[in-house]
Amino acid sequence: MAKSAADMEKIVALCKRRGFIFQSSEIYGGIGGFWDYGPLGCELKRNIKDAWWNDMVRNPPPGPGGVEYQMVGVDCSIIMNPRVWEASGHVGGFSDPMVDDKETKQRFRADQLQSVHFRQPEDHEGLFQRLGAMYRNELYSTTIPIATIVATSASEAVSILEGNEKKMIRGFERKGPFELDEDGLTYCAPAVNRTGNEGWLDVYPVSVDTLQRLHDKIPSPFSGKAGSLTAPREFNLMFQTHVGALQDAASVAYLRPETAQGIFANFKNVLDTSRVKIPFGIAQIGKAFRNEINPRNFTFRSREFEQMEIEFFCKPDTSRSWYEFWRNVRLKWYESLGIKSDKLRPREQGPDELAHYSDACTDIEYLFPFADEPQELEGVAHRGCFDLSQHGKFAKGKDDAFAVLDEDTRERFVPHVIEPSAGVDRFALAVITEAYTFDETRASPEFMRFHPRLAPVKAAVFPLVAKDGLPEIAEPIYRAIKKEFPCQYDAKQSIGKRYARMDEAGTPFCFTIDGQTREDGTVTVRDRDDASQIRIDKSRCLEYVRDKLPLSS
Ligand code: ATP
Repeated sequence: MAKSAADMEKIVALCKRRGFIFQSSEIYGGIGGFWDYGPLGCELKRNIKDAWWNDMVRNPPPGPGGVEYQMVGVDCSIIMNPRVWEASGHVGGFSDPMVDDKETKQRFRADQLQSVHFRQPEDHEGLFQRLGAMYRNELYSTTIPIATIVATSASEAVSILEGNEKKMIRGFERKGPFELDEDGLTYCAPAVNRTGNEGWLDVYPVSVDTLQRLHDKIPSPFSGKAGSLTAPREFNLMFQTHVGALQDAASVAYLRPETAQGIFANFKNVLDTSRVKIPFGIAQIGKAFRNEINPRNFTFRSREFEQMEIEFFCKPDTSRSWYEFWRNVRLKWYESLGIKSDKLRPREQGPDELAHYSDACTDIEYLFPFADEPQELEGVAHRGCFDLSQHGKFAKGKDDAFAVLDEDTRERFVPHVIEPSAGVDRFALAVITEAYTFDETRASPEFMRFHPRLAPVKAAVFPLVAKDGLPEIAEPIYRAIKKEFPCQYDAKQSIGKRYARMDEAGTPFCFTIDGQTREDGTVTVRDRDDASQIRIDKSRCLEYVRDKLPLSS
């Protein structure tokens, strides 16, 4: 855990130092949950979006059994008629239960509270061992903890606690390490209390229901004092604004919390104007906004972020095979761009996690250094006919207003939808994390091993010295490469420093023009990953970059 936290700190520091990601409005102290991409970061994001658009929209892989299908794009407005969000369920249901601390004025998500209990063996006489998780659930939904911690998991709570024990659990002394109990939920460590009694410290999640009943008795995670927490209350995650001059209830509108609804609202427009036929997909890349309660983990949970979403429309009886198809395509796409499969996993949601209209959903998850468990990069959901039926009902008064004709059976049906929905920023963070490499045997130990397709700068051209006719040879090479690929030219500083800068930017190839170039017309090509060098003819530099850079996966 400690190593991971250190890795994350190094990654965040490199992102700032090299201009990948900055805090938004940093000169004014920043603003929580908003981030700016600098020169290298915006090229990286652009490459991610281009790769997605190219591989999913312009040149998607053949469907199940080799079937061809069409993919088209849209680019919808961020603010839409608020009825869209009533139909989608976001006005009524897009909320998280929140708890406020009335004293410190801080707020947290009710499902992200962990408790610390002191358990003495004689209190429970073996019940604990016999009934395990069930007993603990019973016990901790009625007993008041000695402390609470805001954390997404008990293991995250343990690392927070380990760093701050003296203050958080004054009067208790831990006598051994925390270990995960058999129930897979609780971390336990042997401890003694202030009167010298032996027992265990248990770190266990607090349920929303327990908070509802005991909120005025549970100690605050911020002040440690009881009596200041409110009961959990629903908090809508959509950002509100007003359209027009009047700021009244009739002018309320929302910044879209997802790009998907713009696609559904345009389903009929696209069908009528672009000669697409079921099965087909509509794709969109764009900004989405969520007033997240607890933005954290760098860009992972932001309040403004970009999504890459596909709504794929198909016949109900083929929907299961399209669902499996898209789940596999999306997983392979991440692997093709250098995300190692041991950090990537598809996780099929259990029946209790699924939305009421959803038949199936797989989260594609990546193991970031800030978490013990893989975290969602993308959700691939089988949404049935929920969205088109809802918009049919809300916009036209009929569930089947957006039904289409099955040309074989001559029957009308509302298409079913498979939705692969990915976050650009989360993938960018995964790409940065995966690329970050530390090798102390190198002159520049930190370097970014980006997949060449995603690397923000593809090549650099260096005259070894800025004299002796070398710039005159280097400049035309640079101009030729930059017509096709992002390329940098640098004639200053020692060659080692220039390589180091390019390594940190993740530039795969550096061409160096030296004294030998004048004699035999060859230049050095240095490879970022193994720092090996070969010589090629100076006329072949552009061709070399072209050969090494696949345009698709
Ligand atoms: P989470 O459970 O992590 O909040 P979600 O299930 O609400 O995510 P979706 O509504 O399925 O997310 O959105 C699709 C994708 O959009 C996510 O897989 C993620 O990549 C991205 N995304 C969602 N919320 C955020 C956020 N606050 N910051 C950055 N990216 C986000």
